[in-house]
Amino acid sequence: MLIRNVHIENAAEPSDVRIERGVFSEIAPLLLPADGEQVIDGEGNLLLPPFVEPHVHLDSCLTAGTPRWNESGTLFEGIAIFSEYKPRLTPDDVKERAMRALRMMASHGIQHVRGHVDVSDPHLTALEPLLEVRREVADFIDVQLVAFPQEGILSFPDGEALLRRAAEAGVDAVGGCPHIEHTRDMGAESVRILMDVACDYDLLVDVHCDEIDDPASRNLEVLAALALETGLAERVTASHTTAMGSYPDAYASKLIQLLVRAQLNIISNPLVNMHLGGRFDTYPKRRGLTRVKELAEAGVNVAFGEDDLQDPWHPLGNGDMIDPVFMGVYAAHLTGYDQLQDSYRFVTHNAARALHLQDSYGIEVGKPGSCVIVAAPNFYEALRTHAPVTHSVRRGQLLAVTSPAKTKLLF
Ligand SMILES: [Zn+2]
Repeated sequence: MLIRNVHIENAAEPSDVRIERGVFSEIAPLLLPADGEQVIDGEGNLLLPPFVEPHVHLDSCLTAGTPRWNESGTLFEGIAIFSEYKPRLTPDDVKERAMRALRMMASHGIQHVRGHVDVSDPHLTALEPLLEVRREVADFIDVQLVAFPQEGILSFPDGEALLRRAAEAGVDAVGGCPHIEHTRDMGAESVRILMDVACDYDLLVDVHCDEIDDPASRNLEVLAALALETGLAERVTASHTTAMGSYPDAYASKLIQLLVRAQLNIISNPLVNMHLGGRFDTYPKRRGLTRVKELAEAGVNVAFGEDDLQDPWHPLGNGDMIDPVFMGVYAAHLTGYDQLQDSYRFVTHNAARALHLQDSYGIEVGKPGSCVIVAAPNFYEALRTHAPVTHSVRRGQLLAVTSPAKTKLLF
């Protein structure tokens, strides 16, 4: 396959890209097509590595409004509504919704997904169908699954045993939810337990950590200290960490230094954090986000996820990674020109690093020939115009084609 006339990752000059046997084989201007070679005209548009969705809930997606809508817009009402939904959760229901959501994501150029599976369920109803989905979609999307003890490891009956059962069943990562545990001590202890499970089963770690506007919620320091102590380091991710938006500056400064040393990844979910955050404030209302800008400037790897697609925690969401970036650059004050141009990295390279994909990710000769063409010459324009992904290519195979909408002015 030959992709002609594209600007690779905001490059000023256009280039051509050749993919042979599923791998990037040549990147240079004005390559000539070989006999019978498939040619895609990039029309001077932007070429990026595939979008990565590093944080989404595939078991709850597409359930918004069932059995009821989350009218308070709080995390806690969302958890209560999903508990009410659980009696209707069947393997077929989970599978059908997850497949629909993943196809939606694929249509927007996402080729890698990290999905959290709620394991606060004695039957682990969603786990087996999602393990099946992971296998069945492998041709068009890579899925990692995280065992997510949504209602706690110590505060939910047999929480640790359920986490270990999920680890044995073949998840890719161990999760946690320490701020939801009954007490601060139980929160810290739950982090120790989940890190033990990760070490025992040699898994990645991705914890819903301090997702609360409470400056006293400080489980992240425990996770970071253990990431250092165990050597799991960059295999560990903390998602949300929204309490950091409420920490005093002196403490945040000390914590960020620890995160740098521990090489922890942070995943912020700007859409859901803005939606659920600040809900207990009158005025001033907090934004509910972690310190994205300060973390990134200090050298911490920060990625953005969409988190929830039409479920009790997010009434909107459509699998398009432009959306969390758009919200994130506003919410985190990353609206300088270079910051806007570079902001695609939150949902490409940075997210790939959090998922540990670096070796097989990126537009470089020798790497898997996977990329997307976005209908804009650079990411600033893509963000401004909410440009669609016109082509999604995976290991040299065209997966999805979208025609941009055209408006004709009738005056
Ligand atoms: Zn989440």
